[in-house]
Amino acid sequence: MTANSHKYSKILLSWYSENGRELPWRSTRDPYKIWLSEIILQQTRVEQGMAYYHAFTENYQDVQALAEAPQEEVLKTWQGLGYYSRARNLHATAKEVWENRGGRFPSTAKELLQLKGVGPYTAAAIASIAFDEDVPVIDGNVYRWITRLFGIEAPIDQKEGQKAVGEIVNQLLPKGRAADFNQAMMDFGSQVCSPKNTQCATCPFKEHCVAFDKDLVQILPIKAKKTKVQTVYLHYYVIEVDGQVLLKQRPNKGIWAGLYDFPLIESEQAWDIDKSMVELENLFNISIEQIEDVSEEMKHLLSHRKMLARFYRVKPSEKPKSNPQLSEWVKVKDVHKKPLPKLIENYWQTR
Ligand code: SF4
Repeated sequence: MTANSHKYSKILLSWYSENGRELPWRSTRDPYKIWLSEIILQQTRVEQGMAYYHAFTENYQDVQALAEAPQEEVLKTWQGLGYYSRARNLHATAKEVWENRGGRFPSTAKELLQLKGVGPYTAAAIASIAFDEDVPVIDGNVYRWITRLFGIEAPIDQKEGQKAVGEIVNQLLPKGRAADFNQAMMDFGSQVCSPKNTQCATCPFKEHCVAFDKDLVQILPIKAKKTKVQTVYLHYYVIEVDGQVLLKQRPNKGIWAGLYDFPLIESEQAWDIDKSMVELENLFNISIEQIEDVSEEMKHLLSHRKMLARFYRVKPSEKPKSNPQLSEWVKVKDVHKKPLPKLIENYWQTR
């Protein structure tokens, strides 16, 4: 394995020198910018993440600027990426680094793990790319490439598979080249050894690859548990009175924490319009004078939830009271200025 390790590392680095992507966060060693890029890429693909990276680095040129920004503004910059707890963690970490660590990010993966929102993968990425620590990153791309190349059939969501892949990657990692090697693994796993349209025909590992040899490319990697997806119906009530619409700020925990949406009832079963209106009238103790519009069903998928949302634009017979803690009347023309979940933003743009 050691002789092969050297050979495999060389093949990968040589592939990377010819095919590695030029990305804005690869032309810097600034841990702040590398950390930003990694947090954004936890959420989205490189293509979409680029715009967010530019928005953050332009709005907040250093960790101090991000630390001192209002949270609502940070959430607004993050809008569309989902999992808003990550945006709040990002902001909290900027404050921690600025206020308690003299504006300097820790330089080892072990210390970086102490920061909110930084898990083993992100810590290893920052430590290796910004500080040259010899520590491998292991993400879905790496699991896929290694399990296929070495024919590892142990499930990667269990200890046995994770240990096997971790040991191999540690052996492959060439000392002093962790920054390039890690980025090479990420690029190779997404561009060549990809989940679909795997590029085996032109792959430089083809003659060494167990999965290719044994026709296991579409089987590996193996996962023991399949996530059970729960379906939830979201009934949103868009209550407009005198050019204002009732918005509510979501609690600080859970999905879309701190963002704004409309009054909402969730159900596990689909409802018809009559049932939706009865529930709304009960919620606000009002009567509905007119249903002005009912949207198409809009789908929003999370890893563990399928959310089917419908928006009911209604005119009540009287203005319902808002709760100043949770909800507020906002001018229709100002709704888009609030930080909104992507689902709400999409609806609002098409209404
Ligand atoms: S031959 Fe195919 S499966 Fe094997 S490493 Fe290359 S791209 Fe991945």
